[in-house]
Amino acid sequence: MRCSRCKEKAIIYLKPYKIALCKNCYPNFYLNLVSRSIKRYKIIRRGEKVLACVSGGKDSSAMAFALKKLGYNIEILYIDLGIGEYSVRSRKVVEELAEEIDVPFHLVELSEYGFTIDDVDVKKVCSVCGTAKRYLMNRFARMNGFDIIATGHTVEDMILFFIKNVLSGGIEWIPKLIPRSEGFNGLVTRARPLFERSEKENMLFVLSLNIPFLIDECPYAPRDVWKEIVYDIEAKKPGFKRNFVRGLIKLAKSVKIDERWNLRSCKVCGE
Ligand code: SF4
Repeated sequence: MRCSRCKEKAIIYLKPYKIALCKNCYPNFYLNLVSRSIKRYKIIRRGEKVLACVSGGKDSSAMAFALKKLGYNIEILYIDLGIGEYSVRSRKVVEELAEEIDVPFHLVELSEYGFTIDDVDVKKVCSVCGTAKRYLMNRFARMNGFDIIATGHTVEDMILFFIKNVLSGGIEWIPKLIPRSEGFNGLVTRARPLFERSEKENMLFVLSLNIPFLIDECPYAPRDVWKEIVYDIEAKKPGFKRNFVRGLIKLAKSVKIDERWNLRSCKVCGE
């Protein structure tokens, strides 16, 4: 298979776009896709001070690298969750990435709050971890004058979040399924610039440019059968994920945020 652009040996055929690309042409194609999503959905405005939250995995590393390449004003936050060797290695990778793309690196350690993720009951670990990360990201961004928090959520994350919430009856979360959620009541604006990009596209991007990332998964990461189902559908219906998430955004925008979102601040810490 030859690259549709330069006729060199292709490394991938992207079915939804009907294009084959080589190692050299793929990164620009990917960056154009990210840039188009950001502009089309007004995800990040020029001049906004962006806190890019990077775990060291392929998705958030691709996100930080792409935002910097596209000229956005970013700084990196790494949250050390205290997950044994995994946290030690991922922190090193994120420090390396920040140095390579020449952006400030910030560190928050969960242990400063009296516990680590390794101390949590394994049955509740992801739920506690998710809450801790959201708290720490928001607090850091708010206290340090960032306009927006960017995360590496992928198209698969958006679809799975929707499916799981609908299945558990949690439809009040639907309005949050947009690539930019404006801040309110002390919550800083959230951006998901990779919301149309797949994990595979992100992986190819980091590999083709040798962007620092950690290949290991968190040792607590559960096997996600729903993700496998989403991959199966995509294999049979190329373009399913992109079309699904675009439909999802129309749905999310049509649902009104009601008074349940009228959150109050914590009396102790102000969050
Ligand atoms: Fe946290 Fe690991 Fe669970 Fe992700 S998989 S939420 S990093 S404990």
